[in-house]
Amino acid sequence: MKHSIFMKKAIKEATFGVERGDGGPFGAVIVKDGKVIAKAHNRVLKLNDATAHAEIEAIRKASKKLLTYDLSECEIYTTCMPCPMCMGAIRWANIKSVYFGATSQDADDIGFRDKEFYEKDFLELKNIQRAECLELFEMWQKKEDKRLY
Ligand SMILES: [Zn+2]
Repeated sequence: MKHSIFMKKAIKEATFGVERGDGGPFGAVIVKDGKVIAKAHNRVLKLNDATAHAEIEAIRKASKKLLTYDLSECEIYTTCMPCPMCMGAIRWANIKSVYFGATSQDADDIGFRDKEFYEKDFLELKNIQRAECLELFEMWQKKEDKRLY
């Protein structure tokens, strides 16, 4: 079964990352036409980068390799259900299929906050200087050689 082969590769990446102390026990693999395009593991601790989740790292590598932000022909295998940030990145990259191993409850059980992020909205969102910011939108709308993504 191909799915298990790709998940095993994601698990191997995660194991490697934990052994090196790069970050949490998370790995991801991006596949296109049955071939691995990119594999990555969580590097939050190594890079001091809160966004260096396995899925984001894999998306960046795959996009660099395929020279496109559009990964609609790709699938992602990840050792844990993507957090809201990664879920957003997966959507922005147009990836349609996500295969995940552990659940966000499992991640919660070992101290990661994914579940909390899904359940609570504790951000203070304040809308300021909208008119000035909308001028950027106007500039974008007028730009003739823009590419929508
Ligand atoms: Zn994530």
